[in-house]
Amino acid sequence: MGQVRNTKRKVGPDLGVIPIKSDDIWSHGHQKPKVQFKTEKEAGIARKKWWPVITFGEDAIKNRKTSEEVFSNWMTKDFLGKEMYRRFSAAPPIAITGGGVTGGKYLDGTNSFVMAEDFSGEVQRKLCAAHEQLHYAAWLGGGFSNTRWVGEDGALVSKKVMIDLHEGLTELFAQKLVRDHEKIPPLYIVGYPQETMMAFYLLKLVGEKTLKQAYFSGDFTQVKTVLDKGLGSGSFEKIINFVEEEKTTQALETLRERLAEHFPKKLEKWNQDPLIIDIQINALLVLFVDEWINVDLNTGKKIPAAKQLFDKKLGSGAYAQASSLEGNELLSFLLGRIKERGLITPEFNEHPIIVDLMED
Ligand SMILES: [Zn+2]
Repeated sequence: MGQVRNTKRKVGPDLGVIPIKSDDIWSHGHQKPKVQFKTEKEAGIARKKWWPVITFGEDAIKNRKTSEEVFSNWMTKDFLGKEMYRRFSAAPPIAITGGGVTGGKYLDGTNSFVMAEDFSGEVQRKLCAAHEQLHYAAWLGGGFSNTRWVGEDGALVSKKVMIDLHEGLTELFAQKLVRDHEKIPPLYIVGYPQETMMAFYLLKLVGEKTLKQAYFSGDFTQVKTVLDKGLGSGSFEKIINFVEEEKTTQALETLRERLAEHFPKKLEKWNQDPLIIDIQINALLVLFVDEWINVDLNTGKKIPAAKQLFDKKLGSGAYAQASSLEGNELLSFLLGRIKERGLITPEFNEHPIIVDLMED
């Protein structure tokens, strides 16, 4: 979908007439879902056409219960803001469960989403429910269908939703909800790690309220203003253009380079946030062992093969030691062993998530 410029803020591809002002930030979104389901059964039956393996067993009961808890306890007026809360609670989200699904999937335009059957535990299930409910909230606000901002010349720039940015923000807010509400075990499961990292830096730069409004409504004008002021004019469009071309790595690198230039001290501090550390641990685990080991460390389940492979790669006793550590200590331990044993490959040095760690 092309860029709309020099049209006196008139026409957006999907939106008709749009004068953007901060006070009508919500006017482009949907008040209601296109299709609203009242129960899991109703949604499941209707969705069978599209999703052939809807199940109603024990996992479905757990998923429904968790989703209802997330809806009542986490999606509060405080978190969503008044207008989003009103729309969201008028048509509560319905979780349905699908066999063969990995993670979750929001069913566009409806108040329902599919969740997997095989979560490793309650934290992961809650993370998934929160993530999918956030997609639905963003659909109600307009943020799921559109990304737009007022450009330099005062004209509206209106695009399709920038899905990588949208996913990063979705995961960021879901992670935030989980981490704010739950006493959690180390959480190395972070969906869309690069995108979430980028979203995290944006949060630190522009603040939670501004970023959340942009996320729900799709209007990034305020985010652009803050970014261009802090990181140099043109920064926002440079980064967003990479996102649009699905070059998330370049978008993240550009953002981080500019942060390092303008806010070096702050960046250093932000990089100590548990979320960033967990994303880095996850990246390391994925790079040097199979991904399933990271799930294993997460749940504490003892899978002998995982332990063996881990120790074979990182030296004997490594698995036991890694399992007893978390956060920065675990990160340093893994890095130390990886370096010591000569496991660093060019991939490590170019990996956007851990590239800074390789330099020390
Ligand atoms: Zn998603």
